[in-house]
Amino acid sequence: MKVPFVSIGKQYEFLRKEFTEAFDEIGMSGQYIMGDNLDNFEKEIANYCETEYALGVANGSDALFLALKAMGIGEGDEVITCPNSFIASAWVIESTKAKSVFVDCLEDYNMDFNKLEKAITDKTKAIIPVHLTGRPAPMDEINAIAKKYNLFVLEDSAQAIGARYKGRRVGGLGDAAGFSLHPLKNLGVIGDGGVFTTNNKDLYETVKKLRNHGLKNRDECELWGFNSRLDSLQAKLASIKLKHLDSWNNRFREIANMYRDGLSDLVHTPKDLSHEEPVYHNFVIRVDQNIRDNLMSFLLQKGVETKIHYPIPIHLQECAKNLNYSNGDFPLSEKYALEMISLPIYPELSNQEVEIVIKSVKEFF
Ligand SMILES: *Cc1c(COP(=O)(O)O)cnc(C)c1O
Repeated sequence: MKVPFVSIGKQYEFLRKEFTEAFDEIGMSGQYIMGDNLDNFEKEIANYCETEYALGVANGSDALFLALKAMGIGEGDEVITCPNSFIASAWVIESTKAKSVFVDCLEDYNMDFNKLEKAITDKTKAIIPVHLTGRPAPMDEINAIAKKYNLFVLEDSAQAIGARYKGRRVGGLGDAAGFSLHPLKNLGVIGDGGVFTTNNKDLYETVKKLRNHGLKNRDECELWGFNSRLDSLQAKLASIKLKHLDSWNNRFREIANMYRDGLSDLVHTPKDLSHEEPVYHNFVIRVDQNIRDNLMSFLLQKGVETKIHYPIPIHLQECAKNLNYSNGDFPLSEKYALEMISLPIYPELSNQEVEIVIKSVKEFF
């Protein structure tokens, strides 16, 4: 029996009837860009994220990039984020021509707020905490520092839709947030998609124009903009899926608990903190770096597919040479990159499959 790392087709199969009806309805309507389906989804997702405003955009990276543009960030500015994230957390900064500055992570892969103040200079304009693996970053500590230095906080919520921090959903915990609707994320569409959320009316109004060529109405253009809209079709599919998200996220947590119960004696597993409700976009275990690759190959032989999120920290990527960082600058991010393994986790994974993963890891040890 094989346990694949992802199995996206199963979710399509589950929703097939509703999806094909949506294709047909939108195909016949001719309203492919903007319109009611997008407006409705934006209301639903703002409501879900407990924010005043939401906008559908082309992808999660654009949600972050357009947020930075709306904050007025550009050449000469610095923005702080994490080196142990997906590359997009940093390229969105570089694309504004601002400079990416990194701070190392905590034991749970989120931003180490203790190191944040040292990274702030008089050029710093914003902080992008990443809710990595679907676990909320330590927002109270980060917000307190941001307030002290008058900085924007932009949540990279790509991996954490639905997660709660001290009772509140991610997406409304800073000045603005970006979510990804990439098929691999907890709420994924059939292609690319993203969502920008905020409680700040000015940021909302600006991103609303920026994503649509900078137009303020059909004929008048206020700003040099971009074309970064969420298609009506994807918005409709996202609306259909959103109804299931809480139960899917519960299943992510259920699987995480099974892995933790089965494996925490043998490998490092993430701990649940009482003030958090993570959504386990990834379930990351850590083992000694000398055995990590062997364990992955062993699991693959057993039919269990695993991945690494992420094997090369951003500051060590070829594209990041301009930032002049080197190996040793972010010791925990670098160490964890050599120790981490992401186990299969998605709502459609059966208990039997989870047991196979656990049994296979045990067999290796
Ligand atoms: C997926 C992801 C993004 C980018 O989202 P896209 O929709 O692929 O552009 C950004 N940040 C993090 C942490 C991600 O995991």
